[in-house]
Amino acid sequence: MKHYTIKMFRTDYNTNEKCLRAIFNNRYGKDFECPKCHAKGNWYLIERRKRFDCSCGFGIYPLAGTIFHKSETELKDWFFAIYLFASSRNGVAAKEIERQLGVTYKTAWRMAKQIRLLFSQGNQVLSGMVEADETYVGGKRRGKRGLGAEGKTIVFGMTERKGKMKAQVVPNAKRATIFPILNSTIKKNSTVLTDELHIYQTVAEHGYNHDTVKHKIYEYVRGKVHTNSIEGFWSQLKRSLDGTHHAISPKFLQQYVDEFVWRYNNRGETLFPLLVAEVAKRCVSGVGKMI
Ligand SMILES: [Zn+2]
Repeated sequence: MKHYTIKMFRTDYNTNEKCLRAIFNNRYGKDFECPKCHAKGNWYLIERRKRFDCSCGFGIYPLAGTIFHKSETELKDWFFAIYLFASSRNGVAAKEIERQLGVTYKTAWRMAKQIRLLFSQGNQVLSGMVEADETYVGGKRRGKRGLGAEGKTIVFGMTERKGKMKAQVVPNAKRATIFPILNSTIKKNSTVLTDELHIYQTVAEHGYNHDTVKHKIYEYVRGKVHTNSIEGFWSQLKRSLDGTHHAISPKFLQQYVDEFVWRYNNRGETLFPLLVAEVAKRCVSGVGKMI
């Protein structure tokens, strides 16, 4: 992974103009063809209006539909907050943004909320060898699996071997909850690896090859049959939530899981440019508001 240093950041994104251009280029590409006169890459910036105009008079607002839309916070401050997220391992608290940028807590909180939208999980399909498992997060007591889970929030996850993963907060670990998620996420005929918990006993009936790990007899690894990838993810997630001894609200936990999954899926990559690209990918409309 190439580390994106603060020095690089300060050179690349020290003005609102540079940030605006980055959004435009990520969203449309430098050589974007004007929809009106078909000239290519003929855009000049009217910074005051946060708009790019073609010489024919056609204009594009690259921030329309993005997480920055209608924000009065300067774009370079937004970029710095995104930089903080990209360089942190465990997420960024609003308090930290407040302190680093000198904005009000309310503004910082709103920025963090918007930036977290960049991590939300899409409809990616997993295939090949896929580990599936659920875990219990938060709460003081070491609840037994499936039982005594009061005060705990359940997360169900699926991980491709050396590939991508998906995870989501679920209200319970019943088949009626787990299988619709599993079926819509894992490609049929893939090999699903689980432990021997009874809910997973019907996996093969859903068009998958199924292999299990028998934790009870300490058979954690039997050749290729193990669930170490997802379990490694759970322990990292829990470690980073450590110190949270109260029940975690499902909504908060989902955001946290999304961020963690995004980091996992982009492991080994330089995260800052990827996050800037996510801004462009996740606009409300594909082409943005044009006038
Ligand atoms: Zn034009």
